[in-house]
Amino acid sequence: MDGIVPPQFTADEAFFDFVLSAAATTWPDLKAKTDRNEPLSPFSVPDVKITISVDNTYEPLTTLLTRNVVGMVEGSDPRLKDTYVLFGAHLDHVGYATTDQDAKGRVNTPIAEDKIWNGADDDGTGTTAEMAIAKAFATGPKPKRSVVFVWHAGEEADLYGSRYNADFPIVPIEKIQCQLNIDMIGRNRDNDPAQANNVFVIGADRISTDLHNVIVDTNATLAVPLKLDYEYNDPNDPNSFYTRSDHYSYASKGIPIAFFFTGTHPDYHANSDSVEKILFDKQAHVAQLVYQTGFAVANSERTLERDNKGARTGRGWAGRIK
Ligand SMILES: [Zn+2]
Repeated sequence: MDGIVPPQFTADEAFFDFVLSAAATTWPDLKAKTDRNEPLSPFSVPDVKITISVDNTYEPLTTLLTRNVVGMVEGSDPRLKDTYVLFGAHLDHVGYATTDQDAKGRVNTPIAEDKIWNGADDDGTGTTAEMAIAKAFATGPKPKRSVVFVWHAGEEADLYGSRYNADFPIVPIEKIQCQLNIDMIGRNRDNDPAQANNVFVIGADRISTDLHNVIVDTNATLAVPLKLDYEYNDPNDPNSFYTRSDHYSYASKGIPIAFFFTGTHPDYHANSDSVEKILFDKQAHVAQLVYQTGFAVANSERTLERDNKGARTGRGWAGRIK
């Protein structure tokens, strides 16, 4: 409430029909383009003035403070080091349940007597992978561009930490090449052993075809390439994982993102998400891919291209996009 952030608002069909009625792109045109997954370029709407009145009077009932944790390793190129590759994971989890059922309807299950929700996979695996990646950059070879590590607060509370860093970025937002988000990379989906070599990659192609292709090319250089699975990148997938973790705050600002994820399981958001269930070799394998992808982007002279062509990969997709 204290920061000046452009308001975002939703409205019904009649509103947009009216507002865009005299524009070069009308509301039906815009919807048709979206349906065809075509790129949407910005356009201005002449002779339209919209006044938004925001009533920002409020009364705090409780105040809870938290912080993002940020680190940076400076790039080696004097010209490119003021451009950045961001890595992210979230350091919060869903806390603990003090009664049989908390305000969000969560119950202590499946372990009735255990009030602590450990969050080993969600997102202990992402935060520790990010520490390992940060250590590799701090102690190993330095890419041309700088690399920034953000351990976001409040992800589970609706992406608070990443929204804060997207609205008030720690480095100039226009200098960010991409953001690579790691949230849950230490299990097999539904404990299925057939998923052992599988990682879901979500969102990479939507803003930058280039980023999708860098991930594919980087994966091919690993001693054992992972199976890159795009099932959850399908905009029609009912899980909507694309909007559900920190990368989305950056994607909303037009920054190319990729979300690395190994899927949910019966311990997801339950007090049974504990450390002895983590597949550390798999976690390290995915972390290696994220590290090398970030290194490739950060060490390239070329700016990652933003072509905003939307989601094109989905279930069964393999390889580059031409
Ligand atoms: Zn998470």
